Amino acid sequence: MKEELLKDPVFGMAAEQFDRVADFLELSQRVRERCKWPKRLITVSLPVTMDDGRTEVFFGYRVQHHLSRGPVKGGLRFHPKVNVGEVAALAMWMNWKCALMGLPYGGGKGGITCNPREMSMGEQERLTRRFAQEICPFIGPEIDVMAPDVGTTAQHMAWILDTYSTREGRFVPEIITGKPVELQGSEGRTQATGHGVAFLATRALNKLSVPVIGASAIVQGFGNVGSYAVETMSSYGMKVRGVSDVTGAVWNLEGLDALALRAYVAEHGGVKGFPGGEEIDPDEMLLQECDVLVPAALERVITAEIAPKLKCKVLAEGANGPTTPEADAIMEERGDIFLIPDVLCNAGGVTVSYFEWVQNLQRFSWTKQEVLSKLETKLNEAFENLLLFCGERKCDHRLGALATGVETVAKVKQTRGLFP
Ligand code: GLU
Repeated sequence: MKEELLKDPVFGMAAEQFDRVADFLELSQRVRERCKWPKRLITVSLPVTMDDGRTEVFFGYRVQHHLSRGPVKGGLRFHPKVNVGEVAALAMWMNWKCALMGLPYGGGKGGITCNPREMSMGEQERLTRRFAQEICPFIGPEIDVMAPDVGTTAQHMAWILDTYSTREGRFVPEIITGKPVELQGSEGRTQATGHGVAFLATRALNKLSVPVIGASAIVQGFGNVGSYAVETMSSYGMKVRGVSDVTGAVWNLEGLDALALRAYVAEHGGVKGFPGGEEIDPDEMLLQECDVLVPAALERVITAEIAPKLKCKVLAEGANGPTTPEADAIMEERGDIFLIPDVLCNAGGVTVSYFEWVQNLQRFSWTKQEVLSKLETKLNEAFENLLLFCGERKCDHRLGALATGVETVAKVKQTRGLFP
């Protein structure tokens, strides 16, 4: 299994990052081995009746990296290329993310290999419910709490809530986060990840003494993370010059109109053809000069090939794993890019998921204002702690963020001991 996992490029990258951190922390072999590998890798086959009457079998995965610090937490991804290795890598990153943010969770991630863009809502509902049904024995509010990720929304979470609650014979909102507010989802959860990315970008600009008002940004990806990052940065007075998604990229030197862009994408399914900007090549867009560059799509887009050509001051990683270790090394050598690493930068989502779970367990709800201000406090604290850690222990931001998470988990493993 270890070899199988390591063959996957995304897991290989997460494992390489982990090894670097474990060396840095001088973790003992005993603890290192226990921290590195996932506890549970669950694969289920999902037969679904398609709209044309055919039955198609999809494969779904849930990886629970470890359960030593609390229930497992993390999203569920629908994507044609998702596989168990990628999901295991994402679960490992969730682990360090939750520990870094001080959330009482282990990391988890799920995925179903499918293309939601080509499926009707009925097909997606049947697929989601079948997955929930198959995974029921392995999840629970104190075991594993899922949330949205690439390709899934609050609606998918509502179907999972309904399937689980029906099986339990009672309403169990705490089984899932990122659900609709009318089903006791949290105010502020939808925008939380993008809001966090934008907030942290302004903290980084402050450190570089670049004024936030008028600062320029480029965002790759216009899903839940990218779209709210664009909206929040625009609301701060920043100019979002370029935005791309799977359909193409749009560019406006004076700043794109965030709300008009959201409305256009809702109607047309992508940014391509947006009349408030010009078309630009998506790869070229990443290399344009800007204050903040936000990769908010998939893994491994900032590679060794493009890292030397980047012209941003801040790299705010909205996606999980957007930068390869080779690109990291190049940026480290360049020394002129302020990196906000993924496990911190996009932690707004899971942090508000935690708030949602806490509210559900208490049968109590907070206002959007309360949620976002608690989120900013937590992100700011983690950001300042990271800079302190990196200053004291003389390391780069990626290493510092991962090391903070890994160190927390390693201590727990050590203190709990090895059973039997
Ligand atoms: N999918 C998001 C992430 O990668 C959120 C996970 C959650 O809210 O549990 O962080």
